[in-house]
Amino acid sequence: MPLDKYRAKRDFTVSPEPAGAEVRRAPRPRKRVFCVQKHLASRLHYDLRLEHDGVLLSWAVPKGPSLDPADKRLAVHVEDHPVEYGEFEGIIPDGYGAGVVMVWDRGTWEPEVDDVDAALAKGDLKLRLDGYKLKGSWALVRTRGWGGGRGAPRAPAEDDGRSWLLIKHRDEWSGALDITEFAPMSVKSGGDFVDILTAELPAFWLSHREGRGPAGLAASLAQIVEKVEKYEGRSIAVPAPAAPGRPVRKAKLARAPRRKPGTG
Ligand code: MN
Repeated sequence: MPLDKYRAKRDFTVSPEPAGAEVRRAPRPRKRVFCVQKHLASRLHYDLRLEHDGVLLSWAVPKGPSLDPADKRLAVHVEDHPVEYGEFEGIIPDGYGAGVVMVWDRGTWEPEVDDVDAALAKGDLKLRLDGYKLKGSWALVRTRGWGGGRGAPRAPAEDDGRSWLLIKHRDEWSGALDITEFAPMSVKSGGDFVDILTAELPAFWLSHREGRGPAGLAASLAQIVEKVEKYEGRSIAVPAPAAPGRPVRKAKLARAPRRKPGTG
């Protein structure tokens, strides 16, 4: 079933990521949505997602997209995501992909081939992007280990056909500008990872008062805060989690509020 892999990797009682509605494989218009999510997880990477047949086809691009046609950026094909995931920006508190997600670019895409499924099977998808940051003609090409040609990144040893290359075609939108450096912020909120984390924290604690309790999450959140501070080079004032029925108080993040056993 579509999205099975996506759902199996996540605990939606903990993560605010969308579980995804039932996938409807209705005929789609030629122009579909795309997004690139900048994801500060165990490592920073950029997730390119293309809407197709009711899901988001997804590739994790460690170095992010490049506007320079000479750059072949490794793009690891990962599991399909729900279409509504494309709007997700926020904190993944724990488990798979723990960290912060930013909507780095979004817009529409259209294939430059007649049959997307055939192009995917062949491992050569030509497409046009019309986002805020990424525009014009691109190619996603599957590579087999060392088959990507001179200068292509080496695929990991466990590569099982998941390694693709993301390449900009030469056109009026290509060039030497380092787009990830030049335009690092969210196109959804305008903020960087610090802003996103800070904005999401109150809702984060509210949504995690029930169920698991904040103890384990506080520790994992402390790690995320540290990662974000290090990446963005500025510090974050973090409010302590509020226990149900108690006022918010300042406390060390890693120290969870004491709770009576059985009160959840
Ligand atoms: Mn990711």
